Amino acid sequence: EFFGPHGPALLILVLPAVVYGLFLACNQADCLSVWPTLHIPSSLKALPESLTLFSWEAMGVFGAWFGGLALLHLILPGKRVQGAPLPDGSRLTYKLNGALRNGTLKAMSVYWPHLQAQWEGAMLSGHGSSGYPWYDFWMGRELNPRTGTFDWKEFCEMYPGLIGWVIINLGMAHKQYMDIGRVTNSMVLVNAFQLYYVVDALWNEPSILSTMDITTDGFGYMLAFGDLAWVPFVFSCSSRYLADYPMDLSAAGVAAVLAVKLLGYYIFRGANGQKDTFRRNPDHPSVAHLKTMPTTRGTKLIISGWWGMSRHINYLGDWIMGVAWCMPCGLAGLYSIIPYFYCIYFATLLIHRERRDDAACRKKYGRDWDKYCAMVKYRIVPYVY
Ligand code: NDP
Repeated sequence: EFFGPHGPALLILVLPAVVYGLFLACNQADCLSVWPTLHIPSSLKALPESLTLFSWEAMGVFGAWFGGLALLHLILPGKRVQGAPLPDGSRLTYKLNGALRNGTLKAMSVYWPHLQAQWEGAMLSGHGSSGYPWYDFWMGRELNPRTGTFDWKEFCEMYPGLIGWVIINLGMAHKQYMDIGRVTNSMVLVNAFQLYYVVDALWNEPSILSTMDITTDGFGYMLAFGDLAWVPFVFSCSSRYLADYPMDLSAAGVAAVLAVKLLGYYIFRGANGQKDTFRRNPDHPSVAHLKTMPTTRGTKLIISGWWGMSRHINYLGDWIMGVAWCMPCGLAGLYSIIPYFYCIYFATLLIHRERRDDAACRKKYGRDWDKYCAMVKYRIVPYVY
């Protein structure tokens, strides 16, 4: 995984460079073009002079944001929910209060959990205890680093990055308003779609506890950087583009964007809801009719309905929604790749994630997984992939 035991060393250097690169390659001055001629923006050519790698002001703002949210998380009331069983059979209790409020020391939070895991007694993640230092740092040695009852991984997964993404989007809409005196319909669509996605994630916060990120992956560079830097700064690429290059969609354009979004949402919610309901209560009337396959592990696998179409039809729905998030940038994609970066990157993430889940399921289910794959042939896109 991740290009072998030393691959993460490369990713740790390359991914932050991509975050800076996206900003330098597309900003108010210019935007990297791909067609008809390759045109390199002056901001990229001027890279050594214009690049500021560290600023105390940015560190202060980010620290206050992270610290403020952590304080709210600690003092506000929250639901106490039991997590999935851990490898030793025990369960952790999580305080979840994302749906209550509207609301990150990035580097410190990465190093601190990592250091904590060196101490004796910590439960290590299966992936992050390979003995290869860069690999373990990337995957995260400790499965659930905690300070008291404060769970670093769950907190970073749900609050600072996701909510920070929404705040940056709103900031982009505000910038547009300051520049042209109004907010374009394309900006409204991007803000509304992504706000809804984040509110939905916070509202359904308990469902994060059964995801691979929480149950299997340690809290290493991959999740900390992904949660705190990649999500807010890369996912907001489309709204940042629209702040610099305001545009309105025609009525037909708005209808097309909404149709793609609804199609994606229908698949995403339908598939995730079906599996979630089935795992909680297989006799529930909405799932009782589904065909299933018994396994020696004891849990059944669904082989009809959404989960009979492909082994990760939910990823397809999620990706289609991602396309709808970029479409408000109109035909800019023909000129520059950056407004469409999210859906291109997301396709690669989901393809890679499907391979990781496939390997995990093969381990969990053994030969039953091969039988299941023979019945449900496609990985993500029915009849295509
Ligand atoms: P899934 O929700 O697809 O869960 C995979 C697990 O479901 C498997 O390990 C297996 O676990 C169970 N399962 C697989 N097939 C079946 C079946 N046929 N019947 C019953 N159970 C089955 O995986 P993720 O956690 O990766 O994704 C959750 C959602 O989050 C997705 O919609 C995804 O698109 C989204 N996501 C979004 C990201 C983003 O950046 N926006 C990043 C990653 C994910 P078991 O059998 O043990 O229950």
